[in-house]
Amino acid sequence: MTILRPRLLTLGLAALLGTSAAFAADTPAKPLAQPPISELTQRSGGVMPAEQRRVNFDHAELHFTPDIAKQTLDATARLTFTAREATDALVLDLDHNLAISDISLDGKPLAASTWSNPDGRLRIQLPAPLAKGSKAVVEIHYGGKPHVAQRAPWDGGFVWAKTEDGQPWIATAVEGEGCDLFWPCIDHPQGKPDLVDTYITVPKTLAAPGNGVLVDIKDEGENHTYHWRAKHPTTYAISLNIGPFDVLKGDYHSRYGNTIPMQMWYLRGHEAQAKQLFGEFPRMLDFFEEQIGPYPFGDEKMGVVETPHLGMEHQTINAYGNGYPRSEYGFDWLLQHEFSHEWFGNQVTNTDWDDMWIHEGFGTYMQPLYGQYLYGDMPYFSMLQNERSMVKDAYPIVAGRSQFEHEVYDADHGPANDIYYKGSLMLHTLRQMIGDKAFFETVRRLVYGRPDPKPGNFAPHYATTKDYIDIVHQVTGKDLGWFFDVYLYQAALPKLDMKHEGNVLNLRWEVPQNKPFPMPIEVQVGETLHTVPMTNGEGHLDAPAGALVIIDPRSKVLRDLPHMAEFQQWKKEQAAKKAKAAK
Ligand SMILES: [Zn+2]
Repeated sequence: MTILRPRLLTLGLAALLGTSAAFAADTPAKPLAQPPISELTQRSGGVMPAEQRRVNFDHAELHFTPDIAKQTLDATARLTFTAREATDALVLDLDHNLAISDISLDGKPLAASTWSNPDGRLRIQLPAPLAKGSKAVVEIHYGGKPHVAQRAPWDGGFVWAKTEDGQPWIATAVEGEGCDLFWPCIDHPQGKPDLVDTYITVPKTLAAPGNGVLVDIKDEGENHTYHWRAKHPTTYAISLNIGPFDVLKGDYHSRYGNTIPMQMWYLRGHEAQAKQLFGEFPRMLDFFEEQIGPYPFGDEKMGVVETPHLGMEHQTINAYGNGYPRSEYGFDWLLQHEFSHEWFGNQVTNTDWDDMWIHEGFGTYMQPLYGQYLYGDMPYFSMLQNERSMVKDAYPIVAGRSQFEHEVYDADHGPANDIYYKGSLMLHTLRQMIGDKAFFETVRRLVYGRPDPKPGNFAPHYATTKDYIDIVHQVTGKDLGWFFDVYLYQAALPKLDMKHEGNVLNLRWEVPQNKPFPMPIEVQVGETLHTVPMTNGEGHLDAPAGALVIIDPRSKVLRDLPHMAEFQQWKKEQAAKKAKAAK
């Protein structure tokens, strides 16, 4: 997701005030009156119901006709499934506030008594069991008022905004709650359909950029219908975007020999800024293709659309609402972050929300890495230092059990922003430890499921945390379980205890539950740089009393630093004072 800085600031503020009232400043003065969504619809992921595991989601054909004045949706979903094992029911997720008028199976209407959607879990009883390997096409006609986002993209749903000159400007952002906010889906990271066709019918004054390839635009009198087709889209990365857009188009000639279409859909009037941002696309593609591997959707497009919310990694149509800023780093961090999710999120997708750091830890590490690629070490370390100042280490990044999205993102019960910042800093540490060649080899294997990706020889796939740990073992030939055990599965960071006794420096890692942590550490004594192996978590070094001693002078190892906690505490107090004064 596009959590990053704005989310962090908000979460940080809420946490420091210890009350949800802190969110009040960010939510509309009058929260919109709308029927509440059910608990089932609110959440995303968790343990997938057995009926959903029994089917492969082959195809979703989604027809959307919004009534912009009424802020309603009329929709038809034609969904094709193949039974992985015999099943007598199809179970889907759909916000029960969207009324279903009728459902048909393989073209035949189903009696209303055979399906129900009391709480957001739509259960369709099949007239006859579907045998293993057989296909079923279910068509669902539904509509109503889709849930309106209170604070997109963090509290998701539909955004019915207006441009400065009063024209409709509509977007969706549903990562937190899931695809079931506007179409009948399997609201789980592993619920990706193999193929999705979206048809969006809008007035001719508006455009509807979408996921994948534009198949055609059909004339319908005063309206026109945009038909888009996308392969293996991530469930929450399917989006609607409607507005008075113009489009910039170009071709990127990849080092892999293919040509990648680039599109930037921007609001009319923003041409100059959009051109500036569009100008950054080729360099970003260069970076990712050089450092990670082929752009995963080169036969579709690199796409960006201007949105009324900050951003989201919508597959091949990244949501961009960062306002075209200039930055001391020379690139737009938000676009670079969302774009990184085409590799980390859309090409390699977490198997469970518990593995979300695979999207966000890697996705966040890509900004310092891009800074280093563009301008060297100064931006790289500057961004890492900023990330370091925000690590909370209150909960482990990975819980080791199936999670709902909100459990991961709730700072009071889960890792929240640590999946971003601590994840990124852990990857920096890993890279220093195993070297660039091995590090990028592990990343490539994680992303593509193979060491030699070329356009056409890979497809989006799922991966777990354990998959990545196994890859690191394979590539390095070393068992680095101790590394991941501490950084991913423990809340507290390792702490380096240092005692300068006489002419000896005694070093010892303090790790939760005294776990093994043989992390080598560099120490500069006077003008000499030493590497202390720290076998068994301990090490000693000759260092004359009074000599200059710098621990980890090249900032290689993520570790507990008391001044960071003090800084965070101080910031908390300052913000509390400010909030009190503002009352
Ligand atoms: Zn993200």
